[in-house]
Amino acid sequence: MPKPKTIKELKESRYKVLSVKDEIRKNLISRLKEKRELFPGIIGYEHTVIPQIENAILSKHDLLLLGLRGQAKTRLLRSLTQLLDPEIPIIKGCEINDNPYHPVCKTCHDTVKEHGDYTEIAWLSREDRYREKLATPDVTVADLIGEIDLIKVAEGRYLSNETTMHFGLIPRTNRGIFAINELPDLSQKIQVSLFNILQERDIQIRGYPIRLSLDVMIVCSANPEDYTNRGRIVTPLKDRIGSVVTTHYPLTREDGIEIIEQNAWIDREDGIDLFVPRFMKEITEEISHIARASQEINQSSGVSARMSIGNYEVLISNAERRAIKTGEAFAVPRISDLRHICTASRGKIELDPTIDENQDDDVIRKITREAVLKIFNQYFSIDAFQNEIKMLSDRTYLVSDSISSDEYLKILSQDKEITGMIHALQAEMNDGTTEKETAPQISASLIEFLLEGLHANKKLNKDVCQGHVVYKRKRIEL
Ligand SMILES: [Zn+2]
Repeated sequence: MPKPKTIKELKESRYKVLSVKDEIRKNLISRLKEKRELFPGIIGYEHTVIPQIENAILSKHDLLLLGLRGQAKTRLLRSLTQLLDPEIPIIKGCEINDNPYHPVCKTCHDTVKEHGDYTEIAWLSREDRYREKLATPDVTVADLIGEIDLIKVAEGRYLSNETTMHFGLIPRTNRGIFAINELPDLSQKIQVSLFNILQERDIQIRGYPIRLSLDVMIVCSANPEDYTNRGRIVTPLKDRIGSVVTTHYPLTREDGIEIIEQNAWIDREDGIDLFVPRFMKEITEEISHIARASQEINQSSGVSARMSIGNYEVLISNAERRAIKTGEAFAVPRISDLRHICTASRGKIELDPTIDENQDDDVIRKITREAVLKIFNQYFSIDAFQNEIKMLSDRTYLVSDSISSDEYLKILSQDKEITGMIHALQAEMNDGTTEKETAPQISASLIEFLLEGLHANKKLNKDVCQGHVVYKRKRIEL
C-alpha cells in the first residue's frame, strides 16, 4: 500500500499518531515479546543497566545515564533510536515535525486552515528524529530553544508569535529524542529555560513570552561527581528526570575482552595474518582494570574502555610493524610490544593531583608490570618449577620487540628448562596457541611471557636499554 501523502489519506489509512514516549514504549513491548535483543553490541549490561532502561521506557520517563567516561553511555542513548518507528508522518515542510492531526506551529495552522485535509504530509525517518548536544558552558538558549528573528520582526510580524522564531535544536527534535551529554555542564540559566519549555511549555526569549507545546523525550548523560555536586543541576530539572540509571565498567575480564574485540580495529587486510594469544588480551584488559583502582590515577573521571581498545590497537600495530620490517607473514603481539601502549594510554588517564604530572609513563609501566604478574600467575605456578628456575643461573636472555621470531627458536633448541616451562604454560592455556605452536611468532610471544613472568615474580633480573631487554638469573638467593 502506498504511503499516505495528505492528511485525508492518512485519516483513511486509520493511522494513529502516538506521543514519542508511547511509541518507544509500544516498540519496546513488542521487542520484549519477540525476545529480540534490545541493544545489540552492548556488552555486560544485560542484568544491570538494560533492565533499568527498560523500566524507564515502560514508565515513559525521561532518562539520565550516570557513569564515568567510557561506559558506553552515548552509545546506549543513540541505540534508543532503534525503538522509534521506522517513519512517522509530519506536515510537509514543518520545521518542528508537526503532527498532521494536531499541528502546533503557526505556519502549519495557517496551511491546514487553507488546505484542510488536502494538506500534504511527509514521512520522517527515525534517524532524523534523534539529535544530541554536548553540554558546554557556552551553549545558549538560542542553540537549544531558539531565537527571535529580528528580520522577521522588522518585516512587521507579531513579536509574541512564534513565526518570528528561529527554532533551536529542541523544537527541531519535536516528536523525537533529544540527548544532552554531560548535562551538569549546562549553565543554570539554560537549565531553567530547558525545564520551562519541557514542563511548562512556556519560555521568555529576549523578554517576549513564547508558548510551544513540544513532545520530546529527553535523555542525558552525566558524570556522578558532577551530578551529585550540589547546585550543578537546578532542582526542577533534576525532578523532571524520571529515571537515573547508573552505568559501570565491565564486571568481568571476559566482558572487557569482548568489548575490546568488538571495538578495536583488528581486520587490517593487508596480507599479514594476526594472532593475539589469549594472555595478551587478558593483560590488556587487566591494565585498565588495575588502573581503575590505582591511587596514582584520578578516579573521579574514570578510566575509559577506550583505553583498553586503544592499547590493544597499538599492541597489534607494533606486532604488525615488526612483521613488515622482518618480512614475516604472521604477526603475534609480545610482552615487549607493551612498552608502546603508553602512546594510547597517556591521553586516557589523569594522574592524581598528588603525583607529578610527568610521571604518567611510569605509572602506566608500573600498572603493566602488575597486570603481567597477575595474568602470568594464573597460568604458572612458580613453586612447581623451582628446580628449573635454579638451573637458569648464569644464563642471559636478550629479547626485543624488533628481533625476528626465528631468533627466539634458538632459545628453545638450546635451553631445555625454558622449553619445559613453556610447555607447562601452553598446557594451562588451551587457547589455540598449542595448535599453532610450531609458528616461531607464537614461541617468541610465549618466551617473553615466561621471562617477564619470572621477572615479575622476582626470579629474574631485567635490564632495559633502548628497547632491548636482558633477563638474567639473580645470583643472590637465600
Ligand atoms: Zn508546523
